Order: sequence, then structure tokens, then C-alpha cells
Amino acid sequence: MNKKIAVFPGSFDPITLGHYDIIIRALNLFDKIIIAIGKNFKKKNMFSFKKRKKWIQKTFLKLSLSQKVEIDSFHELTISFCIKKKAGFLLRGLRNQLDFEFEKNIFLTNQELYKKDIIETVFLFSSHDRSHINSSLVREIIKNGGDYTIFVPSTVRI
Ligand code: ADP
Repeated sequence: MNKKIAVFPGSFDPITLGHYDIIIRALNLFDKIIIAIGKNFKKKNMFSFKKRKKWIQKTFLKLSLSQKVEIDSFHELTISFCIKKKAGFLLRGLRNQLDFEFEKNIFLTNQELYKKDIIETVFLFSSHDRSHINSSLVREIIKNGGDYTIFVPSTVRI
């Protein structure tokens, strides 16, 4: 049987408890999850790639499920990366209607663009206590000296 491999792409600048919730729940669905850190040169990240990767590594290291998690980076279109990694699934989190509309457009575009490659997008709603968390808010809190620690895994410390 083919292994069920999913790619979970994002900037993870930094990884939050919102991302963590989606990954942990999705580990019940897939044999392997590739957390793919986007190296988008147009996007100005707050934290270096090295730091973002290290935080993700440390977050999953302590879990017994850690062998099911791989961390990688990508420059290309997400679907091209999925094809390269032989992943049949693209994993996304849905927080609200904004995410829904955004994701729907990407899904339809991908479907049209890659007709012959069957990569299914799987969406998980965020848990009720996580739907307000996003990396850009966490960055604002950090910039302004607030307590960011309640929104990120305990491995993320500035
Ligand atoms: P981007 O830089 O493309 O915005 P993110 O790092 O913010 O990427 O997010 C990557 C993925 O994680 C997306 O599918 C996003 O919807 C999901 N995600 C982020 N925060 C949450 C959250 N609080 N609950 C559920 N999903 C989330």
C-alpha cells in the first residue's frame, strides 16, 4: 500500500499553537507529514530560516510521533513540491471565512493547473481555542514586548 504523505506548507514565522494543533491532529490521518517551510524571497520574515526550522525540530523531537514528521524547505510552487516529494496530500488549516475563500481559490487553481497529478487538499478546521492564533499577531506581540509564550509551543523562545 502506498504511504499517505501530506505536505503542510507555511512560513512558520514562528510556528504557533495553531499550526501545532493541525499537525498533531493530522498525524492520525497520515503516515508522514512534511512540514515545508516556504523560502519566499519576496516575503520579509522576522526570524531566519535556521531559527524557524530549529524551533519546529525541537517541537516535534520530544514526541513519540516525531519519526512521522519531516521538516523541509521549498522555493517552488507548493504542488510542484508535493510532486517532488511524492506526497499525495496537501494539508491546510482553516481558521475562518477569510482562510476559506483564500484556500478555495488556491485549490481550484491547483486543480486546473495540475490536472494529471492527483494531489488532494485536506482541510482541518482549527480547534475552538486556536482559531484566533496567527503568526503575524505573534510577531506584533513580540515586537511590542508582550507575552507571546501563550500562543507558541514551549520550544519557541526568543
Ligand atoms: P502563510 O505564511 O502562508 O500565511 P502560515 O505559516 O501562516 O502560512 O500557515 C500555514 C498553514 O497553517 C495554513 O494552512 C494556515 O491556514 C494554517 N494555520 C495557521 N494558523 C492556524 C490556526 N491558528 N489554526 C489552524 N490553522 C492555522
